[in-house]
Amino acid sequence: MSQIDSIKTVGVVGSGTMGNGIAQVFAQHGFSVRLVDVSQAALDRARTSIDKSLSKFVEKGKLTPADRDASLARLSTSTSVDSLADADFLVEAIYENAEAKRSLFASLDAMTRPEVILSSNTSSISITLLGAATKRPDRVLGMHFMNPVPIMTLVELIRGQATSDASMTMATALCATLGKTAVEAADYPGFISNRILMPMINEAVYAVMEGVGTPEAIDTVMKLGMNHPMGPLTLADFVGLDVCLAILEVLHDGLGDPKYRPCPLLRRMVAAGYLGRKSGQGFYTY
Ligand code: NAD
Repeated sequence: MSQIDSIKTVGVVGSGTMGNGIAQVFAQHGFSVRLVDVSQAALDRARTSIDKSLSKFVEKGKLTPADRDASLARLSTSTSVDSLADADFLVEAIYENAEAKRSLFASLDAMTRPEVILSSNTSSISITLLGAATKRPDRVLGMHFMNPVPIMTLVELIRGQATSDASMTMATALCATLGKTAVEAADYPGFISNRILMPMINEAVYAVMEGVGTPEAIDTVMKLGMNHPMGPLTLADFVGLDVCLAILEVLHDGLGDPKYRPCPLLRRMVAAGYLGRKSGQGFYTY
């Protein structure tokens, strides 16, 4: 019996961009999924977008219609965390706010069986801090999926100060079952992905500000010269310039090194409401 055979029901809290993708991937791989959000409208949107995404897999011949229907049947939604009481594994994907996440982790700790692993999809909040809000910090870890979750194969697993080897091993095995590759990162600001990505994006913004190149020129250099599938400014627009700024602030505050200071042009664009793709205007117009 494999160690993850004990996991049948997975709870996902937060059904936004990431939560609905995470719920889909678990349901697609045979798990019963309880998706919880404070907003019924968000749950309704999540179900529609999961249905659409699964249907795209069917169109591409990667999933049978019967598998799509079975995946949808394994998914239930609720606006109450009480529905998570019998979950065997938890993934939190609510909005990026440390206090809200800490308070949710304390409630999840109180209501789930003590052996259940509580994971967070946070991009930048300390896993150690979340673990300390519970009585089971050895069973709290970061499970950082990438957007869009059904497509991207990486999961960054973050080991908090007290996370046990057994919890990391279990999460690694779970990622493999989902068809994802897990990479372990220590709990320092930005983990691996954003520690490296955000300074690159920030430098690209400095290059625009200083007139080193236009956004098109900078993105073309990185695409054709460095073989990146997407230039850093196109990627920044996709991630959201407000999100990039918030993560740079976390790196700057947490590491205390001026090399992480957010570029003034990035601050000015966010202040102007130029948030990238989602607002229609960023380094490019959408
Ligand atoms: P989102 O704003 O799209 O969704 C958040 C959802 O959480 C909303 O539907 C909201 O109603 C719900 N929510 C808020 N408080 C709640 C609570 N207490 N209980 C239940 N539901 C609650 O956010 P997102 O982009 O999906 O991000 C979620 C997490 O994933 C964040 O921690 C973010 O840093 C991380 N993340 C995001 C991305 C990305 O590209 N968007 C990538 C990797 C990680």
